[in-house]
Amino acid sequence: KHFTDYRLSEEILRALNGLGFGTPTEVQAKVIPVALERQDLVVKSQTGSGKTAAYGIPLCELVDWNENKPQALILTPTRELALQVNEDLSNIGRFKRIKATPLFGRHPFHIQKAELKQRTHMVVGTPGRVLDHIERGTLPLERMAYLVIDEADEMLNMGFIEQVQSIIQALPRNRVTMLFSATFPEDVEQLAREYMEDPVQIEI
Ligand code: AMP
Repeated sequence: KHFTDYRLSEEILRALNGLGFGTPTEVQAKVIPVALERQDLVVKSQTGSGKTAAYGIPLCELVDWNENKPQALILTPTRELALQVNEDLSNIGRFKRIKATPLFGRHPFHIQKAELKQRTHMVVGTPGRVLDHIERGTLPLERMAYLVIDEADEMLNMGFIEQVQSIIQALPRNRVTMLFSATFPEDVEQLAREYMEDPVQIEI
């Protein structure tokens, strides 16, 4: 398998090449073709498996550069992961000039608000601050076509269930949802049942 086996644009392939990604990891090989078909996905995988690029590559491919409002929302449990994911997405989308914006707490709200006024294709954030922006009207949701719930088990362990539910309920119904988790306790299963449509299940 090689990344050229997927229907990826020249801009994305060039970025992967620059990152030194030659062959897809197992999770990428399973996730990328399904995500490119815009199907909901539930994925059991660990960090270090290449899961960020597994959703990052199809997201960078699918978003429309010309759209002014954000099209993808990636929820992460921590600020560190949000920053890492934001950087990975920016690298993968580099030659398509994809802009990703990180949102997390303990960082001035007005700076994030100003960033969201610029064109941004994707937003990567922790649930509390993302919900804050939604409630204060600084994060437009009407074009959100993709939701990724990353490290879902960690996010719920940290007590973010209510914020995550409020965020999902505020998003357009017509969207693709991908959930990634290392473990599947009942609350994660329930989240998937409640907010996803016949997700394809992938286990690594
Ligand atoms: P992750 O599981 O998303 O945290 O990724 C783990 C590490 O693997 C990161 O440092 C990535 O840059 C790297 N990586 C992801 N996909 C590939 C690939 N296809 N080939 C080589 N390295 C990769």
